[in-house]
Amino acid sequence: MKVWTIANQKGGVGKTTTTVALAGLLSELGHKVLVMDLDPHGSLTSYFGYDPDSLTLSSFQIFQDNDDFTPEYIKSLTVNTTVPGLTLLPTTPALATVERKMSGIDGMGLRISKALKKIDGFYDYVLLDCPPILGVLMINALVACNRIIIPVQTEYLALKGLERMKRTLSMIQKTRPSPLKTTIVPTLFDRRTQASISSLNILRKKYPDSLWSSVIPIDTKLRDSSLKGKIPSEYDPHSRATRSYRQLLNYIIDLEIHVDQQQFA
Ligand code: ADP
Ligand code: MG
Repeated sequence: MKVWTIANQKGGVGKTTTTVALAGLLSELGHKVLVMDLDPHGSLTSYFGYDPDSLTLSSFQIFQDNDDFTPEYIKSLTVNTTVPGLTLLPTTPALATVERKMSGIDGMGLRISKALKKIDGFYDYVLLDCPPILGVLMINALVACNRIIIPVQTEYLALKGLERMKRTLSMIQKTRPSPLKTTIVPTLFDRRTQASISSLNILRKKYPDSLWSSVIPIDTKLRDSSLKGKIPSEYDPHSRATRSYRQLLNYIIDLEIHVDQQQFA
């Protein structure tokens, strides 16, 4: 079971969109996929037509209850989506209290890891959609995953945020048994603007090893697909954004095959 975290300390950079787009494409390839909403705002939950305010079971339970989870219990927190093979573990606004009140409690950073261990093998891929806050929720995701995907909006302010994010990652790195593999994904790229072009150049210079070489362009079809509650590749399989996300997915899958081969060598 591969676990990918989609995170950035900045909001509005395309985290939830990237989660939905990649999860949708993975399901289309026939994989069993779980997406988990770790943002109390619940954009991912709403995307699939669930109202975060009216759910009783959600990712909050993973933090609130005892951590002697059973596979059945974790399963009971999930809901179906209209996409075959794609399951959602939704959120509720209560999840915000984890950040505010529970972050000091012993073992709180390991809750998602423990929950995912119980359902290891139930899914081929788990994608964790993070809140834009460097707190206990994001730490949980970073500890539990084997790859982090960082969407970065191609504009100057976003680059500053990325530096902060990279510092956080080096801290986490020290507590992990294996190195955290990072893929930086330039998003909302507008080739007509100088800001997009020059911030992409800066990214290429500063992060040559972890930067994906292509970009996700600005594409209004992404907003339209979210309004319709459809995954981007279902809404328009040939849109520019879908094509770019497909390229990104192929790139990451290739990287993972490479890593797996190294582990067996
Ligand atoms: P985050 O999860 O980082 O806060 P979202 O994925 O929710 O960001 O994206 C914020 C807004 O930008 C949403 O309305 C989404 O539809 C839109 N959006 C995301 N990526 C793109 C893109 N490549 N082109 C156009 N709009 C986009
Ligand atoms: Mg989001």
